[in-house]
Amino acid sequence: MEQPQIALGLAAMDSSGVLSPFSFPLRAKTEDDITLRILYCGICRTDLSTIKNEWGNATYPVVPGHEIVGIIIEVGCNVQKFKVGEKAGVGYPISACLSCDNCNHDCENYCPKLVPSFNSFHSDGTKTYGGFSNMIIVNEHFAVRIPENLPCNKIAPLMCAGITVYNPMKHHGLNKPGMHLGVVGLGGLGHMAVKFGKAYGMKVTVISTSTSKRKEAIENLGAEAFLLSSNADQMKVAKGTMDGIIDTVSAVHEISPLIALLKTYGKLIMLGAPNKPVELPIFPLMNGGKIVAGSMIGGMKDTQEMIDFAAEHNITAEVEVIGMNDVNVAMERLEKGDVRYRFVIDVAKNIANA
Ligand code: NAP
Ligand code: ZN
Repeated sequence: MEQPQIALGLAAMDSSGVLSPFSFPLRAKTEDDITLRILYCGICRTDLSTIKNEWGNATYPVVPGHEIVGIIIEVGCNVQKFKVGEKAGVGYPISACLSCDNCNHDCENYCPKLVPSFNSFHSDGTKTYGGFSNMIIVNEHFAVRIPENLPCNKIAPLMCAGITVYNPMKHHGLNKPGMHLGVVGLGGLGHMAVKFGKAYGMKVTVISTSTSKRKEAIENLGAEAFLLSSNADQMKVAKGTMDGIIDTVSAVHEISPLIALLKTYGKLIMLGAPNKPVELPIFPLMNGGKIVAGSMIGGMKDTQEMIDFAAEHNITAEVEVIGMNDVNVAMERLEKGDVRYRFVIDVAKNIANA
């Protein structure tokens, strides 16, 4: 039997979340797989919540990372979509049954057998390790083509933050010129929602807890308006004006002031993942036929479509590129909201590529 390839990365060993060097065997390759030498990996708030076991689902050691762009170094004999030397992106899903109703409707993200790229298990029982590492093997179905005109470090965050906001905007029809979109929480997901909203020709209002983000939201990201969520007067003036709201807040927060911002039949899409339930007031929902929905990442067809749309409209993430040695400090800064707007690890920096 062929010896497994060994990958090098960073793993958290317990809920302190401290990441330290870790090597692990890659799973056995099949004829449908590509092997990626990872170039860049974004740091999503989900990585932080997982390594700190905020949701109680960590299975240590955890090698986080699910915003991956790499270069293909090997392809199996059945691989159709890719050639060695091309770039590919890998996000949260790396396997699904591909035969259930969800998979048949291009919603692999909702397959009951979905396997995430990290903190989970392959069908053979071995652990999945994510993109804070130098290599990954993935079935070609779960990789997307990366257009040549986009810089890889700025495109890596699209593999989670990008598709997570693109998917509900598309499926809830929040992508039409002239519509008014609210974006709550100007972080990794939130700033991508602003960029997609602008590309669709929408009026975008950022709703934030941080006064310091007003100038950058309007001047750098092109939002039309900014509301400080703690300022009741500002929130009152904007009541009943929004067609939809993308809520990316990672902590428990009040949603009735957000519901109040919606027009009749407006939609509030919950994307953030607080570790406790939020209160859902029913009367403000009934009065106006409003909808509160959730959404989780996106299917592979939509992910490719999102990347192609991004290439066409020159949409990339605002990133701070760091080396592998800087990741623990970056995690502390992310926890404090001190990043504009996504850390991206230059994986080859400070790590020997096998
Ligand atoms: P992030 O970069 O930390 O951004 C979250 C933003 O929420 C912050 O920038 C901040 O914006 C606001 N916020 C944070 N803590 C807050 C608090 N205590 N009170 C009020 N506002 C707060 O995180 P992210 O990577 O964008 O991820 C956001 C959330 O989405 C996380 O919970 C993550 O796990 C989840 N997620 C879900 C999916 C999915 O498929 N649904 C995919 C990826 C991530 P302001 O300073 O502007 O207030
Ligand atoms: Zn993510």
